[in-house]
Amino acid sequence: MSSIKEQPELGFSTSNLPTQLFINNEFVDSKSSDTLSVYNPKDGSLVSDKVSIADSGDVDTAVAAAEAAFPAWKAVPALQRREILLTFASLIEKHTRGLAELTRITLGAPFETMGKFEAGLCAETFRYYAAWIDKFAGESYPQQDGFMRITRNEPLGVTAGIVPWNGPLGIVGLKAAPALATGNCFILKPSEKTPFAALALGQLIREAGFPPGVFQVLSGAGNTGALLARHMRVRKISFTGSIPTGKLIQKMAAESNLKRVTLELGGKSPAVVFDDCNLDNAVEWCVNAIATNTGQMCYAASRLYVQDGILDRFTEKYKAALEERARAVGDPDNDSTLVGPLVDEAQYQRVTGFIERGSQQGTLLTGGNLVRDKGFFVQPTVFTNVKPDAEIYRQEIFGPVSILNSFTTEEEALQKANATEYGLMAGVFTQDINKAMRVAAEFESGMVGINCISITFMNTPFGGSKQSGLGRECGRNALEHYTEPKTIMINLNY
Ligand code: NAD
Repeated sequence: MSSIKEQPELGFSTSNLPTQLFINNEFVDSKSSDTLSVYNPKDGSLVSDKVSIADSGDVDTAVAAAEAAFPAWKAVPALQRREILLTFASLIEKHTRGLAELTRITLGAPFETMGKFEAGLCAETFRYYAAWIDKFAGESYPQQDGFMRITRNEPLGVTAGIVPWNGPLGIVGLKAAPALATGNCFILKPSEKTPFAALALGQLIREAGFPPGVFQVLSGAGNTGALLARHMRVRKISFTGSIPTGKLIQKMAAESNLKRVTLELGGKSPAVVFDDCNLDNAVEWCVNAIATNTGQMCYAASRLYVQDGILDRFTEKYKAALEERARAVGDPDNDSTLVGPLVDEAQYQRVTGFIERGSQQGTLLTGGNLVRDKGFFVQPTVFTNVKPDAEIYRQEIFGPVSILNSFTTEEEALQKANATEYGLMAGVFTQDINKAMRVAAEFESGMVGINCISITFMNTPFGGSKQSGLGRECGRNALEHYTEPKTIMINLNY
């Protein structure tokens, strides 16, 4: 392994796109001649029609390479494996700009508000899990009844991660880092809408010193993901995406080899704002929580419940702040842009459809208009007085669209917040810590923010309850999801 200073520049750029699969530390053409086309959401122009689709032969080749690499990889001494993960993290950080550009041309995410964050998240996850490598071996129990017991946390073997388009690099870290840290081999399947940053990682995987077959990247659409989910020799799938696809993954996993499954799915996250909150703080968090990444965030605060006494003032400030954010919607190539377009035409049709129908389901407070005459831009949009059975109230829109309703009592707020099949994130805004803790305990949600929302930390579990997911990423939990505890019982009496 050479030092970071000696590493060559990222070999890929917007004029030299990575389009091949990365198998066994080589960039290779897929066995199929079918390719994916990807478009730039800022104007709808074609970016490439040559992105490889991994077919069953490619998936089998990658799984065989991973299986061959596994025995040696799990035996790599902890400190050496740690060095590889740390080097990879530094390489990602070094190539932040280049990787962010490769994402921006298909996701439309501005560098300052998303691209930089994503690369930082990916690098930081590798650092975080590198530090766990020599600290998650297992446990031993004191002698009892003539027996001693030891548990070993053993890797599963060939694991795979299927990621969505809204966090094409950050989410890679959340899956690949704990998998690789615990000695598994890992196959990454990026979204068909945003494949380039993931494919470019091949160069950095090699440079960091991962042995061939340990960390591979297979581009393709849902069919490639399904080949991994159904594969008899893949032992674990970690999936982030929509609830319907998540359910299919779990079914395929059960019907094939009962592979382990982690599901990070959608959300419709409530923010409950009490009269006694710090108003400016509540407004700032609620605005960022629906505008970041053009609202295409699983934990976006898309349902606001504001107590009667503060309703008018909150509504006025929230509206004004979102209208200011609407003025920062624009060309994602411009560093002063805060909000870019939606990812593609399909997403644009979906979100604008919700907005159009929403006018019959509530009162439009702000937004709803076209921002530019080309590209997939929408204004941050808010509806008030929305009926609880309306689709904009119940369904995940996955765009910069929120609903703002009122409440009178704490019980009513909780009843409204919890009346959903989603359970990813919730937030409560109040300066009464007792009330905050009461509400936090009653939210049916995997994550709760007090005087904040739509935020996560590396060292605490990330994930949802109810239909928002299964299992957790981040923290120690992710390590547990990539290992199997083996109990060894030693008879001391024979
Ligand atoms: P999606 O379910 O359409 O696709 C996600 C991934 O699954 C893609 O890589 C896709 O190619 C693959 N896929 C599609 N069909 C498949 C199949 N039959 N078998 C295997 N793989 C298949 O989701 P999306 O539109 O890319 O992402 C948006 C969704 O992701 C939203 O619902 C959002 O809330 C959710 N999301 C959740 C989290 C979280 O951590 N909870 C984070 C980000 C996004």
